[in-house]
Amino acid sequence: MTAGRIVVAGASLAGLRTADSLRAHGFDGELVLIGDEPHEPYDRPPLAKAVLAGRSRTDRLALPSTRDLDARRLSGVAATGLDLAAREVRLADGRRIGFDALVVATGARSRPWPVRREAALRGVHLLRGIEDADRIRAGLIAGPRRVLVIGGGFTGSEVASSCLELGLPVTVTLRGDAPMASALGGTVGAVIGARQRAHGLDLRARTTVTALLGDAEGRLRRARTSDGDEFEADLAVVALGSVANTEWLAGAGLSADSRGVVCDAACRVVDAGGAVVPQVYAVGDVARWPHPHFDAGPEALRHWGNAVGQAEVAAYNLTHRDRRTATELPAFWSDQFGLAIKSVGLPHRADRVVLTQGSFDRGPFVAAYGRAGVTVGAVSVNSPRVMDGYAALITERAPFPPVVQATDSPETTVLDAGFPGAALATVHGGQS
Ligand SMILES: Cc1cc2nc3c(=O)[nH]c(=O)nc-3n(C[C@H](O)[C@H](O)[C@H](O)COP(=O)(O)OP(=O)(O)OC[C@H]3O[C@@H](n4cnc5c(N)ncnc54)[C@H](O)[C@@H]3O)c2cc1C
Repeated sequence: MTAGRIVVAGASLAGLRTADSLRAHGFDGELVLIGDEPHEPYDRPPLAKAVLAGRSRTDRLALPSTRDLDARRLSGVAATGLDLAAREVRLADGRRIGFDALVVATGARSRPWPVRREAALRGVHLLRGIEDADRIRAGLIAGPRRVLVIGGGFTGSEVASSCLELGLPVTVTLRGDAPMASALGGTVGAVIGARQRAHGLDLRARTTVTALLGDAEGRLRRARTSDGDEFEADLAVVALGSVANTEWLAGAGLSADSRGVVCDAACRVVDAGGAVVPQVYAVGDVARWPHPHFDAGPEALRHWGNAVGQAEVAAYNLTHRDRRTATELPAFWSDQFGLAIKSVGLPHRADRVVLTQGSFDRGPFVAAYGRAGVTVGAVSVNSPRVMDGYAALITERAPFPPVVQATDSPETTVLDAGFPGAALATVHGGQS
């Protein structure tokens, strides 16, 4: 379609990029961007890194558009319902916005600490948006005696790294054996965990927080853990993964729950019976979809690159007669403890891993991941430039272990990748 009204619900990375691409593809109808945050769209990755460490500020994170979007922006108001028969989105302020096409881009939010009384203690934080980052940063500047990070996924690890950079003592607790194990596997996770500890991190694996203890003023003071320990902690960041913002879709007949809204590889939302819903798309962290390269069901890939890639696919499909599917390999990065971690493909689909370049003990390295004799993913640490080559291997379904002609290739030893259980439904967002 090139005319009519397209409503985009969720005005952050995926929503903004969809709007931008729609205009780039010649959509000259009416564009409505609904966002419940009061801010202009902004970039979230720096929140855990440069912002907490004091190298950037939350007023410097605006996401740029490549053109004048000529969009009606409804900011600070949430979409609260979807009426597919009437083709209307209901808003929190009572308005109803009709659409010819709808793009669901409402993302995800941090999973809260389950004990409400403890979550309400001053000093206990989540990290998803600007306000969260500003509050944590203020708490860090005040000089806590110890920071507790609950969850050793990507966000938790990055927060811990930023706090150590500030010279603060930090404890990370995680349920599994190694940090980031759901995305990187326990084998590579343990390698990174060892490097985190070498930076001075108090990393406690197979340990859960059983109580957050406050003082009479309602301030966090101490934490108790499953190993019976109790220690001082006056700032805590709860980093237990994320939950898709799909409540507003309840009752619309879609296949949507806390894991996301299911769509096909062309980003078209499907209903509870699996049929494509005409002119309704989902993009970014809120979407669950089957990547065409991997023979598997729908899953949420909560990464920056996925939001951008899906936005482009949805915008193309909304403006063209032919149809594209999202085919780019999943990829993400994380910066922490002086390590630039890059991932390509779907390592978590693997059951085997092999060190292909460098050394697990020190310095840069690359590990390739395989399943059933096929290379499905790769992770590099401080070797970003080699990743295109690994992406090509994954794309061509190269045999595993792959043949890598590099000067720093060690002897090949295939290891158990150490993923906790079968393929997980959510990557990067589902971290603990
Ligand atoms: C701290 C942090 C660090 C990260 N670091 C990395 C990284 O290093 N590498 C990487 O690849 N990815 C990283 N990510 C993930 C990346 O930022 C996300 O994948 C990306 O933000 C997804 O964009 P999105 O637009 O789909 O969702 P979101 O960014 O979640 O945006 C959704 C928007 O919709 C709004 N919304 C929600 N419900 C409603 C409603 N009912 N009505 C209207 N608006 C609504 C939300 O408030 C939000 O503004 C990080 C994320 C966080 C939080």
